This record gives sequence, structure tokens and C-alpha cells, in this order.
Amino acid sequence: MKEYSQPKLPYDKSDLEPAISRLTVEYHYGKHEKAYIDNLNKLINNTIYADMELEDIIRQADGALFNNASQAWNHIFYFFTFSPDGGGEPSGDLRKAIDEQFGSFENFKEEFVKAGTAIFGSGWVWLSKDNNGKLFITQTSNAGNPIRDGLIPLLTFDVWEHAYYLDYQNRRADALKALWNIVDWDIVESRY
Ligand code: MN
Repeated sequence: MKEYSQPKLPYDKSDLEPAISRLTVEYHYGKHEKAYIDNLNKLINNTIYADMELEDIIRQADGALFNNASQAWNHIFYFFTFSPDGGGEPSGDLRKAIDEQFGSFENFKEEFVKAGTAIFGSGWVWLSKDNNGKLFITQTSNAGNPIRDGLIPLLTFDVWEHAYYLDYQNRRADALKALWNIVDWDIVESRY
């Protein structure tokens, strides 16, 4: 059977400050992400999911297994989007698609943060593409993932309170806006 392990972050826990504090990374990555991965390993043990690819588990499972599998995937994806040298603007084909579909990069950022801020309760806001390269900003509740809808995720911001409450309390929009300073657009472009 597969044994999922938590990938080591490619930066130090305080490197994302001030956008995300060391304390938040310690809890969010060190406790929350770890718990989802530990639970995933327990839940697949001796089941038909034991040797399945993680993305197939997300497509097929329900209940606690879906929740933990998807949260494991979402958090790994989330933390591997950031870099202390991030920020700036996307370029290349992704930038072209953003400009064409959203009018401008500034407008895209505004719509993305607006969608994330509007999610009631816990969830994620996503930039995804379909097989033709068309872009979509979507919202998912709780552990949701656009893979379930046949989309290919490019970028996500976590809007669960555990992602920002230590640093921003109730100011979710401020927490999301700060993430633009650490998004590594080279990584996002490589997913496009
Ligand atoms: Mn989270």
C-alpha cells in the first residue's frame, strides 16, 4: 500500500513573513496538513484505495476519506505555490490567458480575492483550467477540489480560518491580498 508522507517545505517557516507568519506555518503546515496526511494513511489501510493514486481517491471517495485525501492534496498544492522570492506578475501563455479572460492581471486579482472572501465558512478559492486552456475562478466548500469537476488546478488560496486567524483575525480579504506577495508565478505557469 502507499504511505503518504508530508513533503518538506522548500523554504524556512519564517520565510513567508509578513504575508504568513512563522506561527501560522507551524500550525497550518505542522499540525493541520500533517493531520490530514496521517488520517489519509489510516483511512486507506486495507481498503480498495490503498494503492490508488491520490487524485483518483479524490475523484471517487466520499465522506471522511474524501475530506482527508482532498485536504492533503490541497495543502501540499497550496504551500508549494509560495516562495519568499514570489510576488510580481505572471508572464507567458498564462498571462495572455488572464489578460484575455479577465481584462487585466489587476482585475483577475480583484475577482479572485472577491470570490475567496465571499465563501461562507471554510473552503478554497481556485484558479483552474480546462483541457482547452480556458481559465476558471471557482469556490469550493470545506475540502472541495476542482479535480472533482474535471478541471486542472493552477492556484489556490485557503480560506479556512486556520489559514489566517492567528495573523489577521477576521480580516480574510487582507489575508488573501497579502498572498499575492508570495505567489511563485513560475510554479503557477508551469501548471498551465
Ligand atoms: Mn488549511
